[in-house]
Formats: sequence, C-alpha cells, structure tokens
Amino acid sequence: MFRIARLCLSTGSCSETSLGTALPCRALWTSSVCQHAEPAVSDQPIEASTSPAHALGAIRTTWTREEVHQVYDTPLLELVFRAATVHRMHNDPRMVQRCTLLSIKTGGCPETCTYCSQSSSWRKETGLKAEKLMDLEEVYQAAVRARDSGSTRFCMGAAWRGPSQVGKGQWNRVLDMVSRIRGLGMEVCTTLGMLTPEQAKQLREAGLTAYNHNLDTSPEYYSKITSSRKYEDRLDTLDSVRKAGISVCAGGIIGMGEGSMDRVGLLHQLATLPEHPESVPINALVAVKGTPLQDQAPPSALDIIRCIATARITMPRSVVRLSAGRLNFSRSDQALCFMAGANSIFDGDKLLTTPNNERNEDLEMFETLGLRSRPAFLPYASGGETSNGGCTLPEEAHGLQQAAL
Ligand code: SF4
Repeated sequence: MFRIARLCLSTGSCSETSLGTALPCRALWTSSVCQHAEPAVSDQPIEASTSPAHALGAIRTTWTREEVHQVYDTPLLELVFRAATVHRMHNDPRMVQRCTLLSIKTGGCPETCTYCSQSSSWRKETGLKAEKLMDLEEVYQAAVRARDSGSTRFCMGAAWRGPSQVGKGQWNRVLDMVSRIRGLGMEVCTTLGMLTPEQAKQLREAGLTAYNHNLDTSPEYYSKITSSRKYEDRLDTLDSVRKAGISVCAGGIIGMGEGSMDRVGLLHQLATLPEHPESVPINALVAVKGTPLQDQAPPSALDIIRCIATARITMPRSVVRLSAGRLNFSRSDQALCFMAGANSIFDGDKLLTTPNNERNEDLEMFETLGLRSRPAFLPYASGGETSNGGCTLPEEAHGLQQAAL
C-alpha cells in the first residue's frame, strides 16, 4: 500500500480538509512551505487519521447526510482518487464479479414503478405481455449456461408485488429453483418484491445467498417513482432479509429525474442501514418506451461514476455493482467506474427486459483492463456474520472457487 502525499503551495499553516469531510488533508510539509499539488507516491503506509472512526476507509453506519453530500460534491477526479484508495484498502481492485440476471416471471406486475416496463398499469403503452412463471428445468438450464460462461452469481427476478400474491405451487417452485441452482456452486439471489419474515426464512432455508430489494431513490423522491407502496415497506423487507440471515442487495436507479440531493439521500439511506448491504447495485435508468419515464435522458457516465465513488467511500467493503444502463458506456467510462470502486457487472445480453452488453465484449474488456472474475462465495467483508447468507459452502463450490483463484 502506498501513501499518496498531496502537496500544497501555500506557505504557513495549511488548514485545508480533504474530500470536504472530516478527512484531514495529507499535505506534506517541508519546513514552513507546504509544497503543493501533484500526487507523490511514497512507500509508507497510509497514515492513520487523527480521528480513526472517521478516517478514510473506516467502516461506519453513522454518516450524516451532510457528510455524504460533502463526499458526493468533491471534485470528480479527487473523488475517484479517494474512492480508489478506499477500494484498495478493503478489496482486490482487479477482482470483478460477473453476475447473470434472469426474469423468471415477466410482466403483469400490480405495482406502479414508473421506470419499469413490467407494470400492468402501462402494459397497453409498452406492449409487454404478461408471462407465466418459468419452469424449474428451464431456469436451471439457464443457470448452468451462466455458470459455464463464468458467471458466479445467478439472480432471478419475478414481476410480483411479493410472493404473497401467488399460490403455494409457484412459491414452492421458486424455492426449488433456489435450492437447485445453489447446488451448482453459484451464489443465488432473488428479487421477488416485498417479503414477510416467514418468506425470508423459507428462502434462507432453501439456500438463498442474497435478496435484492432496491431503495431506488431518496425517501423524499420515492412518491414520484411509485404510488403503490411506501419507502418504509422497502426498509421492512430489507429488515426481514437481514434477520433471516440472507445477505442484503440494495441500491438504486440514477436518472429518474431526481436531483443530486436525492442521489445523496439514497446513498445516505444505504450507508446508514444497521449494517451496510453486502451488495449495492448502481443502475442507470434505461428509459423504456411506453413507461411514464420514457422521455428521461440517460444519466451521464460521469454521474454514475460519482455515485459509485460515493458508495465506495461510504460503504467501503460492499460489492458495488455497475448494473443497468452499462450498454451506453464506453470501455473508458467503465474503466473509470472500476477505478472508482465498482467490483461487479451483470453480463449476458439481457437484464430482465432491457438489453445489456455482449458477454464477449466484456471478456475483452476484462483482458484489456487486467481484471479477473471474482469467484463465488469469496467472503463478503461487509454485513457481519450474515455476510454469506450463513449458508454452508457446498463441496463443489469449493472446487469452483479454487479453480477461479
Ligand atoms: S420494478 Fe418490480 S415491483 Fe416495480 S413494477 Fe417493475 S416488476 Fe413490479
């Protein structure tokens, strides 16, 4: 680990703080002249902050919204530099997980998320037909293909308000999907809407590694995004997931017309959950024709990079996932995302109902950038004892992990 000394041209006492937070400027002094500006690399370890609890890279859930705002507002290159430093304190920066997301039940959703093509509220405008829950075997074979192509996490999404809206037969089929795919040695994640504590427990017993339930945006902006549920409902489901011993996947969507304070509000919510989510997807809105947000311009890659960097600094050990909307990003854009701390992508040509990057292009990008695929079940550093969903690692997963290493 190198120490990066930031030098300042001013003379006398330099009172600057870095990152706009309580982080001290690492100005390097020689006699009375603070020598400025360009980063210098030394072989000394990164020095400890005078306030260890608030030092760069410290794990805490006590962030104030103002602190998160100050991080978010840092000049972009400085922000990326800081985030890259934190990333290296807690993660192997070359390791990026490749995940696959499959829609196991498409369309016909009773919820009213304005960004989503699967809501039945605007099915006439989107033309998306509701489909039935996929067969177990079909889903299993999709997971086998994903595993064989190097994906180590398989995520299944159902367009439901929650499992409570479906009968026992469908619910048991989903539990069977979880168990069988877990037997492939993959991490298994589902996103099925709102869960009761009992449903979370059943998923846990089936072997689920993680449950995705995004907060989407800030509490203040949430009512502009959906009218069919409340922010508290989202938090309640995350609480049920955590208490069941499943690792938490929660992030948001950028580019839904929200302001920067809403982005800060979202990241603040995530960073102040009782434990940081093990997984934080950062999505760029993919505006789908026929949805209420169809005319939203896509967020810029730099907006996404800023959010990723802020997530990395405020949740140093979480897996930050560069998720939907990546298709609009150049390879250089994505390189900056990885530099800012993103350590996962979704691969495969579809993300639920929207297009995604070609797998071969991603493999080329990994080669060019010197990235390696993160193996399944590499222990998650965040989230305390529930980090791996508390599940026993199957023997064959051990084998896969060793092979990937
Ligand atoms: S985001 Fe999920 S809950 Fe909302 S409408 Fe789409 S499928 Fe339904």
